[in-house]
Amino acid sequence: MAANGGAGRTGAAARVRITRPDKALFEDGFAKRDLADYYAAVAPVILRQLANRPVTRIRFPDGVGGTRFFEKNTPRYAPEWLRRLPLTANPGSDKPAKTVVYPFIDDLDGLMWMANQAAIELHTPQWRTGPRGGIHRPDRLVIDLDPGEGAGLAECAAAAHLIRARLAEEGFETTPVTSGGKGLHLYAPLPGRATGRSVHAFVGRIARELAAAHPGELVAQVGKEHRVGRVFLDWSQNHPARSTATPYTLRGKGASPTAAAPREWEELEPGIRQLGPAEVLARLGADGDLLERAGL
Ligand code: ATP
Ligand code: MN
Ligand code: MN
Repeated sequence: MAANGGAGRTGAAARVRITRPDKALFEDGFAKRDLADYYAAVAPVILRQLANRPVTRIRFPDGVGGTRFFEKNTPRYAPEWLRRLPLTANPGSDKPAKTVVYPFIDDLDGLMWMANQAAIELHTPQWRTGPRGGIHRPDRLVIDLDPGEGAGLAECAAAAHLIRARLAEEGFETTPVTSGGKGLHLYAPLPGRATGRSVHAFVGRIARELAAAHPGELVAQVGKEHRVGRVFLDWSQNHPARSTATPYTLRGKGASPTAAAPREWEELEPGIRQLGPAEVLARLGADGDLLERAGL
């Protein structure tokens, strides 16, 4: 699907014009036009993930080889139609509240505006705002599996099966999402009754317990030196002040784009690898949205 019809104007997203569509963002030539086209093609599924979640962007104005920056606030020059909301920057903390005016991506126009900002990566917390803007309770839990030196995605896949079994004992059904970087993220839907702080504490307890039971494979302690040959179970992103790469976001991690991609459990075996945008689109066409099916 062409998002900009070659004329520098997106089809359905009439309010956004992609400027400098030929600008290469990745070494392999993947350009701003391709970024817009990808986000237009995944719009129905990524908008479900982004709905009512404040979006932190990682922008790459000069492409992946150049400077990157995390952006939380809505820039002053953003169009008035881009919805925004002042939210506390440190929810769940006892520190004095600092405010961030976060943007929300409600529709294709919002996605295209972000693509035009070279916001390759979109990151969100585990909660959504309520109808009056307050911070809702988390609607999913997450465990971020980070391979240490000497380990890789294959070790993360093996670790994921251990976590899946343990969380199933607690009544949670998990879905894996390869991160587009080195590891993978495990998500489980929550009924929305628990607070962010209590989910954070609960997942921390499970992670430490799993690491104690499988000391050769897993570690739950921060610090790269503890991870060598093992997989670090990072539960910190359950904290309401933290975020995770949104499923289906592209990642600016290498010479070619990769994506945070939902996976079938049967795929989590030694030969697993990260996926690129074309592969994600092909799978969506063939299998639909694995996350929607999992209640995520
Ligand atoms: P990988 O699989 O390579 O670990 P990842 O996306 O899981 O990729 P992490 O470094 O494990 O990367 O970080 C996990 C999440 O924490 C990120 O997806 C991001 O949302 C958040 N994060 C990481 N670094 C920062 C940062 N400097 N500022 C804000 N959020 C961050
Ligand atoms: Mn990670
Ligand atoms: Mn991490």
